[in-house]
Amino acid sequence: MTKVKNINGTTDNLCKCGSWLKHWENFSGKKATYCSAYGCMQQTNLVGAHVQKTTSDMKWYIIPLCKEHNATTGELEVSDSTIFVSANRSETCEKY
Ligand SMILES: [Zn+2]
Ligand SMILES: [Zn+2]
Repeated sequence: MTKVKNINGTTDNLCKCGSWLKHWENFSGKKATYCSAYGCMQQTNLVGAHVQKTTSDMKWYIIPLCKEHNATTGELEVSDSTIFVSANRSETCEKY
């Protein structure tokens, strides 16, 4: 299990993809189908949430979370199959 820390208040900071969920889809190559939180089966109301891994680097990543999980603060356990997409726009959609 991977632990992440949810970073709130960053939803207004949009990228070229139009939404952070789309950003995650563009760079993971997958369709966001369910919330990444461990044991959460939520398939609707998904958002691209900004998180940090608690174990390693301080980089910001995007993962799909349901609105309820995105509203929580603090640490969250996500499933091991979760794909972390960089939230750094200069490394992804705004790279030249
Ligand atoms: Zn983007
Ligand atoms: Zn959830």
